Amino acid sequence: MREIRLRFPPSPTGYLHIGGARTALYNWLYAKKHGGKLILRIEDTDGDRSTKESIDGIIEGLEWLGIDFDEGPYFQTDFEADHVKAAQLLLDKGAAYKCFCTKEELDEKREAALATKGSLGYDRTCRHLTPEIVREKEAAGIPFVIRFKVPERTGMLGYDDEILGRIQSDYKEVDDFVIVRSNGKPLYLLCNVVDDIRDRISHIIRGQDHMTNTLKQVLLYEALEAPLPVFAHMPLTLDNKKAKISKRSHGEIVAVQFYRDNGFLPWALNNFLALLGWSAGNDQEFFTREELIAQFSLDRINKSSAIFNFKKDDPKFITDPKAIYINEHYLRTMEVEQLGELVRAELEAEGLWNDSYARDRKTWYLNTLDLIRDRFHTLKDFTSLGRAYFADDFVVDEKPLNKNVLKFEGLKEWLPELANRYEQLSDFTVEETERVARELAEELNIKPGVLINSMRTLATGQLAGPSMFDILVTIGQDKIVERLRNVHKYFA
Ligand code: GLU
Repeated sequence: MREIRLRFPPSPTGYLHIGGARTALYNWLYAKKHGGKLILRIEDTDGDRSTKESIDGIIEGLEWLGIDFDEGPYFQTDFEADHVKAAQLLLDKGAAYKCFCTKEELDEKREAALATKGSLGYDRTCRHLTPEIVREKEAAGIPFVIRFKVPERTGMLGYDDEILGRIQSDYKEVDDFVIVRSNGKPLYLLCNVVDDIRDRISHIIRGQDHMTNTLKQVLLYEALEAPLPVFAHMPLTLDNKKAKISKRSHGEIVAVQFYRDNGFLPWALNNFLALLGWSAGNDQEFFTREELIAQFSLDRINKSSAIFNFKKDDPKFITDPKAIYINEHYLRTMEVEQLGELVRAELEAEGLWNDSYARDRKTWYLNTLDLIRDRFHTLKDFTSLGRAYFADDFVVDEKPLNKNVLKFEGLKEWLPELANRYEQLSDFTVEETERVARELAEELNIKPGVLINSMRTLATGQLAGPSMFDILVTIGQDKIVERLRNVHKYFA
């Protein structure tokens, strides 16, 4: 039995894209499920486009998601000697050849083929050069590339894809592809295989966009006498108009960083990404880490594209509504202690953290989070929509201000009177605050709702929220008295 070894080999030419994160996640799930190992390999051979910033960003993003590695990061550039050696080996055993055709000659052949509707592939001129001619051309300093010699066989070249089934092509359809450029640099296609062989990779789970390489790579495995890994090509992620998702057309929401910066929980994003192209075969939507590892399987990955349902023109949704929905679920159901840690970081960043929340006011702090989290979508909401619980400089939204306060001139007297009565209470409880408010409403002959809704607006700045009397007790007597007395400011 072969050891189960998977890899995530990003090219560090940009940010960690949600499509890349999904690939990493599927590999991680497979490795975890089968007791295998996951290797991180940074494919940095494209020196012009690879950046240190991108490498750091990718590693940080994976760390944030909790996708951990058993080996690596390895860097492809550290193994250049292996790539060159493999190319030489292929030449030596006659599985590859030097091709001296110039760009101009190749262009001419292409033109001619286009004109006669012939095959556009390389016509294999140099495949048949004698060793003497090759030596002469080399001695004359004519530049050459190295091409792989596709075997002349009848029958089909193919492999069994775990997701797509048998993938095959006639040998004749495969071009003698280049494996080393004229500057002596091996092509990515070869480096990728050489590294996977050295890292003893048994399973390659990657996007369908890499399929153009796979048949050629199957030939390389054979020529290098290495066992073929299992291939699984995952569906692409498209937007709801079936266009490829990219930063240029969709903005920051395609980067993992966006979710971290916008108050998403890492596991919620993993859960969302898992469902982007895979399902458990029933309608289960939420998975713990253990459940997802146990249930994940390649045969339940969809064959067709996954849709990242981002409504660009709907300001209500900062990203795919499903990602928000999953995030809300975890925000509302996670251990409140754990939530407390995450919200602490948000409060600290806003200068709203108070050390007492970790000590004598810890119960108050955790109860408050538990009270307000029901309507929140992301961790950011605790310091924006929930600001009034932690600070006095919160914003009173215009809508509830107009609807619940400014419409009733009488509140200028009623709320200060209520504040006086609240100030006198020795028991500032849910029952007592409610009794006093209802009593006053009756005396004034107004609906209790007028007092309750205006209180909510002045106490929290929001139109909706938890039960009003719970809010009063949570925010506390002194602050409530002060906020109710402040009503006159809004009429000014
Ligand atoms: N370096 C490639 C990429 O970032 C991955 C190739 C592979 O998975 O074989 O798309």
